[in-house]
Amino acid sequence: MSKKFYITTPIYYPSASPHLGHAYCTTLCDIIARGKRLRGFETYFLTGLDEHGEKIQENALAAGVTPQQFVDEVAVKFISLWKTMMISNDDFIRTTQPRHYETVEKMFSKFLQNDDVYLSSYRGWYCVHEESYWTDTQVGPDHLCPECHRPCEEKSEAAYFFRCDKYVDDLLAFYDQNPNFITPKGRKDEMVNNFIKPGLNDLCVTRTSFSWGIPVPEAPGHVIYVWLDALANYVTALGYLQKDDSKFQKFWNDPDSEVVHVIGADITRFHTIYWPMFLEALDLREPSRVFVHGLMMMKDGKMSKSKGNVIPVPPLVERFGVDAVRYYLAREIIFGQDGQFTPEQFVERLNSDLANNLGNLLNRTVSMIDKYFEGKIPEDKGDTNELDKNLSALAEKTVKAYEVLNDDLKVTEAYSAVMDLVSAANKYIEESAPWALAKDPAKKEQLANCMAHLANTIFLSGMLLSPILVTKSEKIFDQLGVPSALRNYASATKFGSLHGVLVHKGEQLFPRLDVKTEVDFIQQLMAAPKEKAAA
Ligand SMILES: [Zn+2]
Repeated sequence: MSKKFYITTPIYYPSASPHLGHAYCTTLCDIIARGKRLRGFETYFLTGLDEHGEKIQENALAAGVTPQQFVDEVAVKFISLWKTMMISNDDFIRTTQPRHYETVEKMFSKFLQNDDVYLSSYRGWYCVHEESYWTDTQVGPDHLCPECHRPCEEKSEAAYFFRCDKYVDDLLAFYDQNPNFITPKGRKDEMVNNFIKPGLNDLCVTRTSFSWGIPVPEAPGHVIYVWLDALANYVTALGYLQKDDSKFQKFWNDPDSEVVHVIGADITRFHTIYWPMFLEALDLREPSRVFVHGLMMMKDGKMSKSKGNVIPVPPLVERFGVDAVRYYLAREIIFGQDGQFTPEQFVERLNSDLANNLGNLLNRTVSMIDKYFEGKIPEDKGDTNELDKNLSALAEKTVKAYEVLNDDLKVTEAYSAVMDLVSAANKYIEESAPWALAKDPAKKEQLANCMAHLANTIFLSGMLLSPILVTKSEKIFDQLGVPSALRNYASATKFGSLHGVLVHKGEQLFPRLDVKTEVDFIQQLMAAPKEKAAA
């Protein structure tokens, strides 16, 4: 298996202020990236902004600023949101950066040199929302966009076209050879049946009707189509066709590097049809996987400013802590499926999993070690009975499941497995009844092993949860007295490695929340005036 891992979020469109919906995808990618780093993978994690296109030009005009001023302002908000969510991205690409211009211009020149693009003129039905042209058949008699169902306008302009014909057979062969390329699998059939089989038209890759984009040096008046421009970010950020391309060589060009794009469903077509073709034309490898995540829906549909159901992130994080918000996002909605946010489920999830399960296990264990062993974690001498044996076997099984599920991007399932181990440890306390063992001097060794099993289970769980609990896992280790030399994946997964150290009973890491108070708080956030919500 590859020890190099490159993961990207979609580059976001800076036409609105970022909210919990944007935070969802980036946080999940962050959890995946941190999980890989934890396990020793050399990892590169990229996010950024898609700053060109007609829609930006129009929005800037409406706001009375230049497009560059407009995107600069929105960029600050995104960067600040990632800081709030403690996102560990290695780079933040903006498509208005000179490095991006350099790569995209050179890519286009290659297309010209290899006769992958040709000049023609375009007439079609244009949807400003997706910045996509559609044919007469696709828009039907009402001229509605087949993707978003908004009205399209008829347009014609001089443009360059990418020869899809040249690459479509290779693309289909690539799909066949790489059945995991598109996840979920149903999306692949959708692409083949809805877009490729009916006949893929050559793709219009430049525009002449507006100017906010990367100019084609060889063809004055043409700017590069926003989708070609945007997709290129995944290689631009690594230095492709730039002076220093060492990251590109390491994370893209090396066939052993696993390359994962995480995207929303609405941009599947561009990532799974056109992006592989562009790469093929450039003689570059395809990504290992395009993972289509689901949507976090609200009761009244998608989170949007116009619906007034937007949840601003900073006050939520301030109230509940970054760990809790990250935990909710990873755990509540199965990654890859659609799910719904409700304030009630948010509070219940934090109470049941973090306060009652994990927090409770830590408090009870530290208190008992204090009480029975003067705060010193006893050595684990092995399993003394079936209960001990079951817990250590489950711990071992959990590590394996965690790794396999994470490698398959089944993030929710991976962390559920860890929480199942935490539940099992709470149950183990009930069944082992250490308070009874403590009364019998003959059971001293069994009591010691029980405490050691518990401390090591918490140590392991805290480590496995650390990609989500970015601040609290360290606090868990502090309470357990884990020395810094042991605070690593190898030590935590070697069950029984923690002993002879003093625990430090500290504050409740996950205090129980009052459901009504907190639900009211979240509802007020959602009802806050738009200006406030955008802050
Ligand atoms: Zn549309």
